[in-house]
Amino acid sequence: MINKNRRDLAIATGSAITMAAVGLPARAATPGRKLGYAIVGLGVYGLGVIIPQFKNCQHSKLVALVSGDPVKAKRVAAEYGVPERSIYNYQNFDSIKDNPDIDIVYVCLPVSMHAEYTIRAAAAGKHVMCEKPMAVSSAECEAMIAACKKAGKKLMIGYRCHFEAYNLEAVRLARSGAIGKLRYFRSEHGFTAGNPNAWRLKKALSGGGSLMDIGIYALNAARYMTGEEPIAVYAKETTDRNDPRFREVEDMIEFQLEFPSGVIGSCMSMYSANQNHVLLVGDKGRIDMEPGTRYDGNKLWVGQDRSNPVTPPPGPGATQWAGQLDHLSLCIINNKEPIVAGEEGLRDIRIIEAVYRSAREQKRIALV
Ligand code: NAD
Repeated sequence: MINKNRRDLAIATGSAITMAAVGLPARAATPGRKLGYAIVGLGVYGLGVIIPQFKNCQHSKLVALVSGDPVKAKRVAAEYGVPERSIYNYQNFDSIKDNPDIDIVYVCLPVSMHAEYTIRAAAAGKHVMCEKPMAVSSAECEAMIAACKKAGKKLMIGYRCHFEAYNLEAVRLARSGAIGKLRYFRSEHGFTAGNPNAWRLKKALSGGGSLMDIGIYALNAARYMTGEEPIAVYAKETTDRNDPRFREVEDMIEFQLEFPSGVIGSCMSMYSANQNHVLLVGDKGRIDMEPGTRYDGNKLWVGQDRSNPVTPPPGPGATQWAGQLDHLSLCIINNKEPIVAGEEGLRDIRIIEAVYRSAREQKRIALV
């Protein structure tokens, strides 16, 4: 059961995200060993983005690989100093339970595989970092949370922007009253999808289209930037079903979020155009980010227009990924709940399900 008051508490304490992430002792020397991560899925994100980040971590290290491609796994293991005995495949994955070097399993697989590998990792006695979107349905998210709880293991979702300096500074500015009373949130997120055969464009593997993959950044930002939970959604989908990329999943979906304070969120998600923008409009000014949630090169302005660029203080880690990876390690060391635990992923998936329903039924859906 989700604690719905958590986000209210976050506002009352001046943002759990900012306080917890910026306040993390990630830069402090904590005695003891670094926690060991097993990366499951050596694709664009797991191999290209996450694995190279361990060199920036203080409390985390790479100790194992799980891959369906033994040649690739052996090459990556040699490059990153992973012993061959710590290479696994999808069939013998459960034997990770006998490897004491592995503390955490990081699931970097297509979305439809997140629940299975999270649940198997928890059953093997390991903590879990799972990529966004958490799973293809809220029922799967609930099963993942239950499995980790039953095993007494932590579950965190890979929401890297909660550890990204520009996003943290934007949250701090919004909470500090820099733009007065927040009235309106806007975000567009999109990229141009290519290969029609990619798993992202297959509903059984992705769970949905642009909203699941990239629009989720707009949704999650709407929640952490406002510090509120939406009470209703209204959505409209526009997809050219003759485009071979969009036979199974949506291209454009725009959705409006109503927040309890009266703030309106207006979000657009796309698979047919590149856009990355986050805007908060208050009665005294604007916080503007473009790009807002990229790997690097994010920009931030505060004031009436874009004449006042902001350079944020450093985030909790050397990079957003180091902050994210070390956050889970420190939560395990200090027995704390991650700031983006499984419940955070479940909240987004429940709202995404309501957005899809609203677009289908062409009506406002209240979130209970
Ligand atoms: P990818 O296709 O590049 O990699 C997926 C990996 O899963 C590959 O190694 C592939 O071999 C493996 N796999 C195993 N079974 C498979 C199957 N049946 N079909 C397809 N692949 C299979 O994808 P990716 O871009 O690395 O995305 C992986 C996860 O990471 C997704 O959940 C995605 O949403 C997430 N991601 C997050 C970010 C972020 O910024 N947080 C960025 C990119 C991707």
